Amino acid sequence: MLVIKERRAAIRTLQGWAISVLVEAGAISECEGHGWMKDRADPHARERALVIARQDPPLGVSTEEAIAELRDVLYSMGDTCPECPPD
Ligand SMILES: [Zn+2]
Repeated sequence: MLVIKERRAAIRTLQGWAISVLVEAGAISECEGHGWMKDRADPHARERALVIARQDPPLGVSTEEAIAELRDVLYSMGDTCPECPPD
């Protein structure tokens, strides 16, 4: 599981970049109570994130690496917050 405790600082890493793109696209969202990132399972939002990655990969990172990192981050996430009580 992936917990984001230093989200703003982490933008300097490729993983941090991928998370920021996924949040911007609406593909993932943060649990307001606990800070866990949740996969929103929205294929349109994922597509938007991939478009951003293709058009604007981080400096010094190839498009292929950027997209691979987006996928890695998505696969590492669950669609619920592990600390929230189930519905
Ligand atoms: Zn939570």
